[in-house]
Amino acid sequence: MTEVIKGVYHIPGQDEMIPDSHVYIIGDPSSQDLSLVDVGLTGKGRYKISSINDFGVKLEDIKRVIMTHTHFDHIGCFAEIKEQIPWAELWVHTAEAEELEQGDERTVYGMDMFQSMCQTQYDIEPGAFKFKVDRRLQDRETLQIGGMTWDVLSIPGHSRGSIALYHASNKILIPGDVVYADYAIGRFDLHGADATALKDSLMRLGELEVDILLPGHNRIVKDLPAGYILKTAQQWAPYLT
Ligand SMILES: [Zn+2]
Ligand SMILES: [Zn+2]
Repeated sequence: MTEVIKGVYHIPGQDEMIPDSHVYIIGDPSSQDLSLVDVGLTGKGRYKISSINDFGVKLEDIKRVIMTHTHFDHIGCFAEIKEQIPWAELWVHTAEAEELEQGDERTVYGMDMFQSMCQTQYDIEPGAFKFKVDRRLQDRETLQIGGMTWDVLSIPGHSRGSIALYHASNKILIPGDVVYADYAIGRFDLHGADATALKDSLMRLGELEVDILLPGHNRIVKDLPAGYILKTAQQWAPYLT
């Protein structure tokens, strides 16, 4: 775990055959009101918790988990994390909250083939991904948490309930799996994906001023060139119809 800037911390994903999402911790350490952004792959709860402990963050200061979206590689170890931090609330965009509360796992696994593979590989029962959602996030909400201000942007396309968290004053963007470093974007073939919506979401993100890009996987970028996301959106636009 490393400090990106004061109030933003990064636990790198530990990819296996299936990728493990990065986890970000947001919130001023003195606020005692920290949030995890995503948790990662099934089986990675212990690694994430020990990274938090090793860095000296107190588990009791973690008040919630905010999901960029509810794919398996981001929410897989939520039950493991909940065992260690049972008081943590779960905040999910409204478009994926309903499914999660009903135990409809189509978004979690994305496709049937992947579902059977994961259930076999990790010995997961059907219906394991049924969780109470404590807060349903909406587009354009402003979260005042951990002594910081984060804007919620609904950016569907990779999944229906994908969100970005944007910290305007430090120009930090946490876009989940919608846009990555190296002009890469998230896949758009899974349940709930929509190529046209993804194009619009990328164009929307392209309007933001972003210096620090903290995606769900691969490299994080601390000195993002101006216009990077817009350029990425424009490069991909012909394929997103
Ligand atoms: Zn995803
Ligand atoms: Zn992912």
